[in-house]
Amino acid sequence: MNTTLNDAMLLAGELTAIRRHLHRYPELSRKETETAALVARELTKLGLAVRTGVGGHGVVADLKGGFPGKTIALRADMDALPIQEETGLEFASARPGVMHACGHDAHTAMLLGAAKLLVNMADRLHGTVRFVFQPAEEVNAGAKAMIADGVLDGVAEIYGLHNLPTLSAGKAAVCAGPMMGSVDRLEIRLEGRGGHGAIPDQCVDPIVCASHVVMALQTIASRELSPFEPAVVTIGSLQAGDANNVIPHRAEMTGTIRTFDPRLKARMPERIERLVTQIAQGYRCKAEIRIIDQTPVLVNHAANARLVGETVDGTIGAENRVPAAPTMAGEDFSVYLEHVPGCFFWLGSGPAVNAEEAYGLHHPKYVLNEDCLPYGAALLANIACKALG
Ligand SMILES: [Zn+2]
Ligand SMILES: [Zn+2]
Repeated sequence: MNTTLNDAMLLAGELTAIRRHLHRYPELSRKETETAALVARELTKLGLAVRTGVGGHGVVADLKGGFPGKTIALRADMDALPIQEETGLEFASARPGVMHACGHDAHTAMLLGAAKLLVNMADRLHGTVRFVFQPAEEVNAGAKAMIADGVLDGVAEIYGLHNLPTLSAGKAAVCAGPMMGSVDRLEIRLEGRGGHGAIPDQCVDPIVCASHVVMALQTIASRELSPFEPAVVTIGSLQAGDANNVIPHRAEMTGTIRTFDPRLKARMPERIERLVTQIAQGYRCKAEIRIIDQTPVLVNHAANARLVGETVDGTIGAENRVPAAPTMAGEDFSVYLEHVPGCFFWLGSGPAVNAEEAYGLHHPKYVLNEDCLPYGAALLANIACKALG
């Protein structure tokens, strides 16, 4: 077995204890105070100088190697989700309506594990490892805030991982190029003129208009774009009216726009604004449209993806590496990759058999296979070692 992985296996009990504590006491985005304090405590125990309050509740520490060289960053996210846990685990969330349903508790534990491993190898490192514990990933805010606070200053490369419950623990998935979709929030407000449901001629009905808008937005992917240009426009909420016999004044909807190509992302607002405005005009409604930029397409840099792939092969074996399937789910790690080269990869966190049937991320019954903790810690540590020669 790879020696780093062997050392990480010896930390498994400790990492599991940290992860279970974080799992029991999850904190929502922008409220990660106790999590950040725990991280700062653990890093201080390792003798590292810790910076807290970076981009909100972010925590950062640098480990200087024995030789001069570049700085590479390893990033983990710390926030939980507004979901009521239904796993029945003995260490299930003690906070009603809040759950680590995306496994950021495990990411935090793994990066602390990597820090423990790297501290013991520091004299052999050519350069510096920056440990980045990020808040507010689920609301697409933490990466931007930490960058504004200088977390990437002097950083040459950045790496991170996300657990994947539909891939067995002990496996990892990597790819070069686009891996995760861009995220834009869509808000539409259609203003009509309300009145009696029996007298439509005295009204301007925003519900009929909204219905046509929802259907028309689906034609962007199917009729305007090439079948080889993936895009998703989902309307996730649609609100109008209170009574069965009243035509309301307005209809409001929110949605999400996903693409897999930065150039296509840039072209989506024009399509949406044209369809919504002109349909609204046809139905005598007034349309207000807001498209809020959230995260870019996550694009792995080829050389860094190669480094991660080689590290996976050397640490857990080439037979345990699979190509990463692209997903339209978003990740604000993509924001770092717009500034510095790097790579994000999937770490299996599912059961050993039939992992593809496991509950997915953000599900109230999502369960992480804790066997993945030492694999994550060892891979992050070995990536840093390889990147720093
Ligand atoms: Zn998530
Ligand atoms: Zn996540």
